Amino acid sequence: MTETHRIPERSGTAFELRRGDTLVVIDPMGVQVADLLAFNAADLDEVISSGRSLDYAEKIYLTTGDTLYSNRSNPLLDIVADSVGRHDFLLTPCSVDTFRHFYPDEPPHRGCFGNLAEALAPYGVVPDRIPVAFNCFMNVPIDAETGRLRVLPPISKPGDFIKFRAAMDLIIGLTACSALASNGGSFKPIDYRIER
Ligand SMILES: [Zn+2]
Repeated sequence: MTETHRIPERSGTAFELRRGDTLVVIDPMGVQVADLLAFNAADLDEVISSGRSLDYAEKIYLTTGDTLYSNRSNPLLDIVADSVGRHDFLLTPCSVDTFRHFYPDEPPHRGCFGNLAEALAPYGVVPDRIPVAFNCFMNVPIDAETGRLRVLPPISKPGDFIKFRAAMDLIIGLTACSALASNGGSFKPIDYRIER
């Protein structure tokens, strides 16, 4: 099956991905971030780990040929194709707290964190288990001297995508990000497709 699903702007979803399945995350309109989480479907204590993945990759920008590891150092997802080449794996999902911090004059939104918490609850994931997400298309350049980071608009164009292959049976959480700066100031949907 190759049906394409749409995640409406400022929302999220969760689904199962079986070992060997391919997940394609698509930015249909361009300049839109999608936060991705992965849990071992058989044991929710095993979860995607930014720290492990960046350590093994020896870099902070992951792309085709790189692997997203779990907290137990097992491969969860291999990146098998990537038309953008710029994603973030440092920052936590946007939340009502980050809205209050960065956008005190905007109405607060539950953000990717709230959307992921609701979508993952039926699978048994409680909010405190939500870690740093792999932020597809998020553009966070780093000053090499000071370590200072900036959140700039994604460089993704309409139809750009990143493709992952599951290395074990997974529960996936996926959003269309809700934060202003991450998405160039406007909110767009995200599409995804599972190829078995
Ligand atoms: Zn977000």
